[in-house]
Formats: sequence, C-alpha cells, structure tokens
Amino acid sequence: MDTRSLTRPDLAALPAYIPGRSVPGAIKLASNEVPFGPLPGVIEALTEAAAGVHRYPDMGVVALKNKIAQRLGVAPERVVTGCGSVALAEHLARTACLPGDQILYSWRSFEAYPIIAATTGAESIKVPNTPEHAHDLKAMAQAVTDRTRLILLCNPNNPTGTSLRHADIEEFLSSVPADTIVVLDEAYREFVTDPDVTDGLLAFGDRPNVVVLRTLSKAWGLAGLRVGYLVAQPDVAAAVSKVVTPFSTSSAAQAAAMAALSQEAEMRRRCDIVIAERERVHATLVKWLPEVPASQANFVWLPLRDRAVEFGQVCEMQGVIVRPFAGDGVRVTIGTPEENDAFLAAAETYLGPERDQSHPA
Ligand SMILES: *Cc1c(COP(=O)(O)O)cnc(C)c1O
Repeated sequence: MDTRSLTRPDLAALPAYIPGRSVPGAIKLASNEVPFGPLPGVIEALTEAAAGVHRYPDMGVVALKNKIAQRLGVAPERVVTGCGSVALAEHLARTACLPGDQILYSWRSFEAYPIIAATTGAESIKVPNTPEHAHDLKAMAQAVTDRTRLILLCNPNNPTGTSLRHADIEEFLSSVPADTIVVLDEAYREFVTDPDVTDGLLAFGDRPNVVVLRTLSKAWGLAGLRVGYLVAQPDVAAAVSKVVTPFSTSSAAQAAAMAALSQEAEMRRRCDIVIAERERVHATLVKWLPEVPASQANFVWLPLRDRAVEFGQVCEMQGVIVRPFAGDGVRVTIGTPEENDAFLAAAETYLGPERDQSHPA
C-alpha cells in the first residue's frame, strides 16, 4: 500500500519549514538567536521547575500572563501565551479562517506563514515585496478581498530586516475592513531603533482588529523553550485560547519566562550590543553589496539572488553557517563581535574587492 494516500494530498506540494543548520564546531548565524546564553536566573528557575515536572503546568498560565500584562500595561484577559509565537500565528489562522478564506501577507517574509495558511485550509495571497525588500502596503491594501480574514505584517520583516513606519501602518489599517484581523508580528521589536518604527502595541494595540504577536525566543533568549504571546481584544484572545493545544506552555517554559522577564535591564544591554554590531556589519557589507537593506532586526539580508546558495557554501567552508534562501538572498544573524568578524572575513572572500576571481561577480 502507498501510505502517502493516508494523508492530505495537498501536503505533498507544501514546502517544509527549513530550520537554520547546526554544524558542530561552526559558528551558527542561521536562526536569529541572541548569542549570549540564557539570561541570569533562567537556569536556576528551570532547575527549580524540574522538580515539579511530573505535574501538568498551570493551564491558565496565570502568573506569566499577569507578568506580561503588567509589563505591557494591558489587561491580562488580552494576553494569550503559546508554544512559540509561531504556534500562536497558527492558532490565529484557525481562529479566523474557514477553508477557502484568505490569509494575506508580503513575500518574501517569514517562511512559517505559507505553511500555516496551507495547513489551515486557507488560501495564501502573497504580495511581492518592493524592490527595496520591504512590504508593499499599498499593493497589500489593494489585494484585500471580502474573503481576507487575516493579514500578517511582519515588522521588522524576517528575513529582509526592513520595517514599516508608523504613518504607513496607520494608513494601511484605516483601509482594511473592520472585520479583518491584522497581525503585527513583532518578533524583533526589541532590536528596533528607528523612532518612526513605533511599538505596534502602544500605537495600534487598542484597535479592535489588531493583534500583536511577540516572542521570548529572540531578545529574551528562550528559543529552545518555546514561549510566545499575543495581545488582542479580550474576545479575540478568548477565541484563540479555545484553539490552543491544552498545556502548550510547559511548566519549564512558564518558569523560565518569568525569570527572563525579570531581567529587562540585562536583556536591553545585550540587545544594545547586537544593535551596535548590526550597524557595524551592515556598514561593511554595503561597501561590497550596496543593495543590502538597512535592518531593524538582529540579522541582515544579502539579496544575492542566484548566488545565494553559493554564498552560503562559501561561508560554511569557512566555518560560518548562514541561512540562504535559494534564488533570493541570504539572511545572516548578528552574533558576538568575534562571530561577526568571522562572518565578514568569509563574506569578503566572496564579495570584497579582492575576491577570489573564481566566483562570478
Ligand atoms: C523567530 C520568529 C518568530 C518567533 O518564533 P517562536 O515560535 O516564538 O520561536 C515569529 N515571527 C517571526 C517573523 C520570526 O522571525
């Protein structure tokens, strides 16, 4: 028997999520993690939580939701946590869409979006990025139909690092029907320095159809534990809570998140190092590849198109793992200063003025 007939035929055509590669001994700049280890107190909190792992976690995630709500200045009823914000994006799709409904997003953007749309039975409407690698909000507004139930704005955008300014989001939101949810995926919010790129929760979070998605995976250093959260209107939050897989924020994740969120100053200090390094790496790369867009995230984007895979191989041969998207570009996470130096040295052999002439220009 062909066991493929046991599962949905449309899944065969769906590209799998490709994680950043880990190669023992190599520098990993492929998954947008912050390189400094867990925040102080996280390991202790996990050790303590370990003694209770024969029990189910608090299903209501009460302490953590309260802490997040307090930090953000919103009512706890507006907060839902999940197994990473990726899971919450999927829960939102299941909350908003029936088969045949549309999910609208820019492309290229976060590679989880097409998978989420397809597995929820919604139709993906992908609006190409501008030539400057940013969301084309005007074209996105025009692509909204009466079947659009969910719009995903990734700000800053993974993998291009580009960001949306306050005035442009404002104009976009006023053009979107009141019964369409607009998700502001702000996974990289803590790395934003441009004052025109405002905090989506502060600026737009009180609008009924806006949902803000955040994560503890990046700036807060908990990628391995899977904790994300959203802030929505209480009715939307309650609906999402119904589709969340029960107990999907584990007791270890809850304890570690509580500890991490108590380390705001240290988180800020670490992010500031990453931000300074981002600017340094960007300033060097634009000398070799002027098209590299400015980034407001903890990674940079090299629009190398059909040279993307080859560039990834060149870096890997020099011990640095980056994240190529075939035919499109390469995303490189900002690491420690030493890691970034290793990356720049590898990149220079391919892009720099005295590059190895065996590589095509
Ligand atoms: C990394 C990332 C997330 C966060 O994923 P988690 O599931 O919370 O680890 C969400 N959105 C975007 C755009 C990301 O790049």
